[in-house]
Amino acid sequence: MLQTLTIALSKGRIFKESLPLLKAADIVPVDDPDTSRKLILDTNQTNIKLVIIRAADVPTYVRFGAADLGIVGKDVLMEFEGDGLYELVDLKIARCRMMVAEPETLAKNDDLGRWSRLRIATKYVNIARRFFSAKGIQTEIIKLYGSMELAPLAGLSDRIVDLVDTGNTLRANKLVEVEHIADISSRLVANTASMRMKHQIVKDVVKQIEQAVG
Ligand code: AMP
Repeated sequence: MLQTLTIALSKGRIFKESLPLLKAADIVPVDDPDTSRKLILDTNQTNIKLVIIRAADVPTYVRFGAADLGIVGKDVLMEFEGDGLYELVDLKIARCRMMVAEPETLAKNDDLGRWSRLRIATKYVNIARRFFSAKGIQTEIIKLYGSMELAPLAGLSDRIVDLVDTGNTLRANKLVEVEHIADISSRLVANTASMRMKHQIVKDVVKQIEQAVG
């Protein structure tokens, strides 16, 4: 019997950069999620579907078996505190870095060795908490859902933890990177049950994607 496969991913940059990798595994979506309102996309293969969801929901869909595979940023995986997910392949797409940043004016006289009682605004509460507590630095973490760069300018926090790619957003808001937390790229993940029950199709797709990444 033909095994079915569901792959969860988010639209936008990850979807676009995943297309060539999926194509290498002969998976070609029939619709474009940027123009279609469909949340489940058919592909050229009748037994393979893509589900298009928020990036932060991908680990949950895969973890609970609603999707067999997922394509998701390492930032989301680091923030997701659940088990049952296997990270299979570093897809080397949507690359950026997770950084601590602060205003240029603060950086001029800042002594990182004397950091204590920091007020940090971020979407990545768990990552920030782990990073600073490993260094023994006390923090007050303020959860935001976007536009972290605004927080120091508006006086909400001294520093932020955010993703940086070109650095243009930080520069435009007179912020500078002061600490590197992690290099980020998208990963192919699977849940343990799908790896066991759908071994053949998962293995085939993973192998072809792996070869395409190089
Ligand atoms: P940049 O101005 O190129 O440094 O991009 C920084 C902005 O884009 C920040 O608001 C980030 O949250 C976002 N960003 C950059 N790279 C990524 C990525 N790979 N995934 C998600 N968001 C990103």
